Formats: sequence, structure tokens, C-alpha cells
Amino acid sequence: MNEVYDPYKNAVSVMKKAMLAGSIDDRYFEILAHPQRETKVYLPVEMDDGSIKVFEGYRVQHSNIRGPFKGGIRYHENVTLNEVRALAIWMSLKCAIANIPYGGAKGGIKVDPAKLSENELRRLTRRYTFAIAPIIGPDTDIPAPDVNTNGQTMAWILDTYSQLIGKPCFGVVTGKPVELCGSKGRNSATGRGVYISTRLLLENEGKSLDGIRVAIQGMGNVGSNAARIFYHRHVKVIAVSDVSGGLISEDGLDIEDISRYLETRGHLLKDYNHPGVSHITNEELLLCDCDVLIPAAMENQITGEIASKVRCSHIVEAANGPTSAEADAILEQRKIPLIPDIFANSGGVIVSYFEWVQNIQELTWERDQVNEMLENLMKKSFDELLAVKEECGCTFRMAAYIDALRKLVYTEKVKGLFP
Ligand code: NAD
Repeated sequence: MNEVYDPYKNAVSVMKKAMLAGSIDDRYFEILAHPQRETKVYLPVEMDDGSIKVFEGYRVQHSNIRGPFKGGIRYHENVTLNEVRALAIWMSLKCAIANIPYGGAKGGIKVDPAKLSENELRRLTRRYTFAIAPIIGPDTDIPAPDVNTNGQTMAWILDTYSQLIGKPCFGVVTGKPVELCGSKGRNSATGRGVYISTRLLLENEGKSLDGIRVAIQGMGNVGSNAARIFYHRHVKVIAVSDVSGGLISEDGLDIEDISRYLETRGHLLKDYNHPGVSHITNEELLLCDCDVLIPAAMENQITGEIASKVRCSHIVEAANGPTSAEADAILEQRKIPLIPDIFANSGGVIVSYFEWVQNIQELTWERDQVNEMLENLMKKSFDELLAVKEECGCTFRMAAYIDALRKLVYTEKVKGLFP
């Protein structure tokens, strides 16, 4: 059956199922299925050739009942309001699972950043910040990097916001360069969390990472940092890919060499050549024979068709929403354990929280301290997920949704509806 993928419908339908499976008061579904506020902005930018282009941007603020809105900003030509809505919901759930005092939000601009010069990107980012400035701030809504945005983007947002309010305001974004009060360990935090999730999943089955073969789709911030951490712990990463295609080697890829190549030459993986390494398509990567498949690129990569053919024995979702609802049902039927995005990629927002705490208190923590605190927090929330999974006899995804929704509904109830 050919499914039309809508990330928002997907998120809301899983939420509905989880309310039932977790015996949660489903009157609150109506509240949580809708964002609190959606902002759409049109951003005029003068291009390098003197022409003017208008870009469409969004900021969706799903929930702030557990703390300020929190969520990344994505630059991608396929950004839609429904995608940003889903991403904002997942942020609320993720922060609840991790027990950090944030709500959920997400932003996006419909743009292919590869087609813009650095100066055009800077002007676009400043214009977007100016447009959403009335609704963001260090105690209201704190953006961070996501697909095609990074520490540089956060530095531009920080500066624009600080200029507007007339004083430096480091806590308005996280994922900033360390030199601009970013946190040590933030850049690699999402990838580190993916590694921790994989280890916890295997340990729960009484296994270790010894002899495990990993395949990773996406070699951006999340995928490349996860790949590096596995590689340095002597775990074989047999396949990786990016938007241009993938690489495979049964002996394990030299991830440092590939990362250096991507960083210094700025080329796509399709141009990388090394003895013993073969080129594959993204579909071949998803279907390769491995122990852990890690989608770390975009939504809807593991479709129903792919799910019925995958040859991995475990899946750890580093990207947000990489598995469709149809695929999820097939994987459950095939008994392939899957750690869902809202737990597996929570390392990013957890260390963003640490960065924000350091900014507020004007402190600087060492990398080892940050990494250790991340590890402890994820271990604690994994134990909570295991307890819910056992109680409800469900998948990890369902347990994660139930855990998060229970916390959100509790907060809604204890505060009472307003007015
Ligand atoms: P990024 O822009 O740094 O990298 C994205 C990677 O995916 C690139 O290698 C790109 O070439 C590849 N890619 C894009 N389209 C693809 C396709 N169709 N097939 C295969 N590869 C493709 O982005 P990122 O920050 O690494 O984010 C990746 C995923 O992780 C996203 O779903 C994002 O929402 C999620 N995430 C990111 C963070 C973070 O801290 N950056 C935190 C939580 C979740």
C-alpha cells in the first residue's frame, strides 16, 4: 500500500494510541494534539546579485507547561508547517522523558541553504531572528541547531537578539560555539546520546557492543558524531551515507578518514574513494546486513516497503521521525527492537539544557563532567522507559510516548485549565 506520509498525523496518531495503552485521561489528547501557538513569517532578503527574495519561515510552540519552549531550527527546501508541528510535539515529549524543565517548539525556513552564499544565509538568519524576536527569549523559547543549521547560525541569532534588546543574551540559544558561551560537549551530544542508547538497548538484552556491526544513514552533525564515537570504541561502522549516496566495507570504515574528508574537502560521500570501500545507494544502506541500523538523516526513510525488507536486528532512531506508522507496525510484527527518536536523540536537548544552566549561572563546565551528566540522565530515563514497557507490555516507542504523556497530562491536571 502506498502511504502518504504526514509527520504531524503520524505523531498525533501514535499519541492517541499511547493514551489508550497507558490508561491516560484522554480528554487531554485535544490539548496535546494542538500547538499552543504557530507563527508564520515572510522574510525579504537582498541576494548578492541585488535581487530580492522572500522566504517562508515558521516557529511552532507546542507546549510550555513543563518549562520554556525549546527546539531547533531547520533550513530545508521541503520544510512544511505540518513537519514543524510534528517536530515541536516530539520536543515536548523528549524533554518530558528526559525529565528536563522544558516544553517543546521547533522552527524552520523553506530554503535550500546550499544555493545561498554565506552572506545571504547570514542576512536570512538575522531577518528570521528579527521576525520571531517577540516570541523567543532565554526564559520563553530557546532555539538550537537542527538540519542544515549549526553553531554559526546560533551565533548570528544570538547577536541579532542581543542587538535588539541592547545587551548580550547568551541564554537565548543553545548549540552556540564554545567561544560564545556554548557548552563543551554540545556539538557531539546528540551523537553521543545515540551511542548511549545503542549500548543501553544491547545491555538490556544481556549483550555488549563487542563484535557489533553498525550502519548509519546521514553523516551530518548527529550521524558523523555517532559514527566517530562508535569507531573510537572499536565498534565496526560498516556503512554510512549522506544525501549523495553511501559507502560500505565489511571490514569497517575508517570513520576518521571519512570525517576529515567531509570537513576539509567539503565534498559529498559520492566522491570519496578508498581501497576496500564500495559505493551504495541510500536504499542499499537501509537494507544492508548489520546489527544496528541508525537512520540519522530525515523523516520517513524507513517506509513500510523498507521495513518488510530490512536485514538489521536492531534500529536506533537518531533522526526525528525516520520510521512511518506502517513501517513501525511491520517492525513490531518482525520483532525488531527499535529505540525511538524521542529517547535516542535526546542527548542534544539534554546538553542544550546543561548549556542554558551554565549561561544562567555564568559557569563553565568541563567536557568530562558534561558527558558524565548526560550518561547518568539518559540511564535514569531509560530505566523509567523499561518500567513502563514492562507494565504495559508494549514497544519502546509506545513506552516512550506513555511515559512522556503521563508527565504532560499530570502537569496539565495539577495546574488546572486556564481560566
Ligand atoms: P545535518 O544537516 O547536520 O545532517 C543531515 C545529514 O543527512 C547530511 O549528511 C545529509 O547529507 C543527510 N541527508 C539529507 N537528506 C538525506 C536523504 N534523503 N538520504 C540520506 N541522507 C540524507 O543534520 P543533523 O543535525 O545531523 O540532523 C539529522 C537528524 O537528527 C534530523 O532528523 C534532526 O532533526 C535530528 N536531530 C538533530 C539534533 C542536533 O543536535 N543537530 C538533535 C536531535 C535530533
